[in-house]
Amino acid sequence: MEDFVHETPSVRVVFGPGRLSTLPDEIDGLGLAHVLVLCTPGRRGLGEQVVELLGSRAVGVFAEARTHVPVATADAAVAEARRRGADGCVSVGGGAAVGLGKAVALRTRLPTVSVPTTYAGSEMTSVWGLTEHHDKQTGRDAVVRPKTVIYDPELTVGLDAQVSATSGVNALAHAVEALYAPDRSPLVELMAEESARCLAAALPTVVEEPDDLAGRGQALRGAWLAGASLGSTTMSLHHRLCHLLGGMFDLPHAATHTVMLPHVAAFNLPAAPSAWAALQRAFRSDDPVRALAELNTHLQSPPSLKALGLSEDELQPVADAAATSGYANPRSVSREDALEVLRSAWHGR
Ligand code: NAD
Repeated sequence: MEDFVHETPSVRVVFGPGRLSTLPDEIDGLGLAHVLVLCTPGRRGLGEQVVELLGSRAVGVFAEARTHVPVATADAAVAEARRRGADGCVSVGGGAAVGLGKAVALRTRLPTVSVPTTYAGSEMTSVWGLTEHHDKQTGRDAVVRPKTVIYDPELTVGLDAQVSATSGVNALAHAVEALYAPDRSPLVELMAEESARCLAAALPTVVEEPDDLAGRGQALRGAWLAGASLGSTTMSLHHRLCHLLGGMFDLPHAATHTVMLPHVAAFNLPAAPSAWAALQRAFRSDDPVRALAELNTHLQSPPSLKALGLSEDELQPVADAAATSGYANPRSVSREDALEVLRSAWHGR
């Protein structure tokens, strides 16, 4: 029996089709009376629908959320929250909207409620991120973790096949790295394995039949467990490389995770026998690395870093940074190792 420490964060999770309708009660339960709704420009319609649902509890919608939370956007959202006398925020949308709620909470200590509509998983973590001049700073602070998360699969039905696929594999990456995290616990292992099982089973359905609510529900359940696993552990090489690629070259977040995952798994999983065994069970496959690659092919995900627009000479600085920065990993990573993993992802081999 290995030693472990497990802390259960206090987040109230409400899950089910149509559960968005419970948002007013959830806001009342938190004692909030003047919430600002946050979303991306593309989700303004949903943001306004939420304002209508909340009635006098909402002070308006701020529809300027952007991926990786630019500092200027966070400043504008904080100013808007103060101007409108908000006592909390409701983030509706993907990781960009959730991230903006976290940035506001970091500055103002205002509580947030999250209604995620992708599979990114940020709503279950205390990790915040802010970006300025191509440099993304991240940190952990319990104050940014949403108090309540409402997962309503009906809200994910409009997420197109490509975004669903990459967002789902982004979640799968959290589960895979949680399974070999140095600070995992037995509870995290259970959550991460179940997450991987749900996502691998549901994503093909989600892509082939986007309106299938059962498939959407299973994918969202996997995303919740992936986010919870991410929130309880330290991530390794995969997240480090994706963070560097996103920050240095502004590559799309979920697509980068999707391309990288089989390649990092091929490097790491042979050194992590318990993770290998858990993923064998989750994927019902002898070879979880091959299963990850086949899943990407099945989902028609972007095949390589080259396809995402990266040039081959941009790999070296990422490998240099990955080899010098300290992070947990089941095996040591030399500059050559990191470059080899990146090269295979660049070619899509
Ligand atoms: P995103 O939030 O940018 O969403 C992608 C696009 O999909 C957006 O244009 C959005 O408006 C649209 N969209 C969202 N839901 C939709 C729906 N149901 N139907 C139709 N369109 C919809 O991208 P993402 O992949 O969800 O999140 C990525 C961001 O989250 C990154 O900034 C990443 O760093 C962050 N993230 C943070 C953590 C953390 O723990 N801090 C974890 C995972 C991701």
